[in-house]
Amino acid sequence: MSEENRNSEIIYSLKCPSCQEGEIEILRTIYEIPDGDKMIILKFECDKCNFLKNDVIPLATNTEAGIGTLNVSEEEDLKSKIYRSPKGKIEIPELELIVEPGPRADFYYTNVEGVLYRFESAVSIYRRNLEEDDPEINEIDEILDNLKKAMEGKFNFTLKMTDTHGGSYIIPQDKSKYTFQKITKSNNDKNIL
Ligand SMILES: [Zn+2]
Repeated sequence: MSEENRNSEIIYSLKCPSCQEGEIEILRTIYEIPDGDKMIILKFECDKCNFLKNDVIPLATNTEAGIGTLNVSEEEDLKSKIYRSPKGKIEIPELELIVEPGPRADFYYTNVEGVLYRFESAVSIYRRNLEEDDPEINEIDEILDNLKKAMEGKFNFTLKMTDTHGGSYIIPQDKSKYTFQKITKSNNDKNIL
């Protein structure tokens, strides 16, 4: 192996979450750090505005198309990093919460705590718009209650991310709580955003 073991490729491009106009190209570079470990540098750059973001993740991180499942049972797990591509879906089945694929920029780069926080603010807004006698209120209050417990690591739940195109990833704090199930990419839907 020489010094030249860097290897870059453009994985795909997507619509910019910041200006909604530009195209973001994601450049993936494999980089060997001096102690022999390999890392991936992901560079996200918009061609229209100044949106630029770099992320360094372990090479072992699975960015393939598939379903990643993380069991969250303690506060430490909330620090697990998450990147959801616009083609990725995030679900917490125990709380019936879901982020469908789409350019929801607030769910792009975050950690588990950030996902809970964003769900909490969305559910709170929804709650405020309900009439006081709406039969749904009890159920919504229970979700909010569980979300608060979850943010303190006192509610066990599963965070599931499905990405049929690849690119999304979860970097667990505790690898033993993470599983990944690969799905085979179909060439037919490569162009769907
Ligand atoms: Zn932009």
